[in-house]
Amino acid sequence: MSSLHRDYQTEVVLAEPGQFLLRQGSLPEPAPGEARLRIHRIGVCGTDWHAFRGRQPFFEYPRVLGHELAAEIVVVNGPSEFSVGDLVAVEPYLNDPDSPASQKGKSNCCESLRCLGVHCDGGMRPEINMPIKKLLHADGIALDQIALAEMLCIGAHAVNRSNPDGSETALVLGAGPIGMSVITFLRSRVDRLVVADLDVARLAFCREGLGVEETLRLSEGINLERAVRDAFSGQLPDLVFDATGSGASMRSTFRLAAHGGKIIFVGLFLGEIPFDDPNFHRRELTLLASRNATSGEFSQVLNAIERGKVDVGPWITHRMRLEEVPERFPILANDPTVRKAVIEV
Ligand SMILES: [Zn+2]
Repeated sequence: MSSLHRDYQTEVVLAEPGQFLLRQGSLPEPAPGEARLRIHRIGVCGTDWHAFRGRQPFFEYPRVLGHELAAEIVVVNGPSEFSVGDLVAVEPYLNDPDSPASQKGKSNCCESLRCLGVHCDGGMRPEINMPIKKLLHADGIALDQIALAEMLCIGAHAVNRSNPDGSETALVLGAGPIGMSVITFLRSRVDRLVVADLDVARLAFCREGLGVEETLRLSEGINLERAVRDAFSGQLPDLVFDATGSGASMRSTFRLAAHGGKIIFVGLFLGEIPFDDPNFHRRELTLLASRNATSGEFSQVLNAIERGKVDVGPWITHRMRLEEVPERFPILANDPTVRKAVIEV
């Protein structure tokens, strides 16, 4: 195994907010239970943009970003069902299997969870070692689709959290990649869906690319509750998903959900969200946080991609090579036409 120690590989490191560098990194031999992966494609996520802008909480620099990965097995250290050359998707959440949350099946929000590319170095490099149990078979699936599976999992998990029975009406606030991921798995599971956003182009993509029939254009100063009631024939929706990450938007959801309804916070806001308890009680609302996703949901998403139920190809608007990241990432960070960017290695 000694030949597998890599002293030099060109990694992209976020040295500090606003500054990517290329550096020569080293990679140890894969430990028992790990596989060496060759990275082929990396999706750029909201987390990566936030880290670049210095707006990711508890984020330590320097850091190699990248957690949306399509990879190929180079070597496996230990018994496994994988062979050299297999394509894999990566579940980038490193949990403690003995923690109480993991034991209850909630491996995605375990106390000591470390997310690849956030709490430890991620995949913006040619090769990486990963625990075998965090790999999923993806042979036969296009690299772009594999890389974007993690993003889709965020939406699948949020929808599973809300556990719809098919009769509900639903509002999705925010039509960025996370909102779109929610929509992808929600559309067939509710009776009626309305998607709201400030951006006309995003709403147009939801209609044309995702088959959403009803969209609601938001604007500054709009009477949101009235606009939502108008969109739902005078009623309020049973499920309100917030995928904006905006504190003001998240606060508004307490007035937008129907009595007996559910609010699902998918986007993350770095602060406190006050709410009026009599309103919360009167409606007997259920408030759910949705963090990332479980292994089972990765399988669910890969299966949906394999069966052709989901195609994220049209979501991708921008591409760059790994070595172009220091130059192009800062430009794309200020480009409003970026829906989803991918990095090719
Ligand atoms: Zn992501």
